[in-house]
Amino acid sequence: MQYPKLPAECPECGHHFSEYTRPRSRMSLKAVLLVLVGVMLCVPWVLILAGVANMAGVQARGVIGPTLLALLPALGAGFVAGCLPRVLRMKCVNCGWQQTYKMSK
Ligand SMILES: [Zn+2]
Repeated sequence: MQYPKLPAECPECGHHFSEYTRPRSRMSLKAVLLVLVGVMLCVPWVLILAGVANMAGVQARGVIGPTLLALLPALGAGFVAGCLPRVLRMKCVNCGWQQTYKMSK
């Protein structure tokens, strides 16, 4: 991932942005929502597995494999979210100007 060309100064007020206060990139809202959907898809399966294992008296070792299968939607969503471009938000502390930039691959 490469940083986009970021302004050295605020376009509104000319406040100089320090290299040391450059914000870190983070996941985009789309990627966060994707991970949340993946986790939400896993929750019912894990609960069903726990209930079935409890009723059948299966030991914890016996449900590790099915639990990993139940976690596949979250793992897949996390993988896809990791492939989406990250975003970086520049914000001026002087005037409140802010701009969001996408990281390029
Ligand atoms: Zn500013």
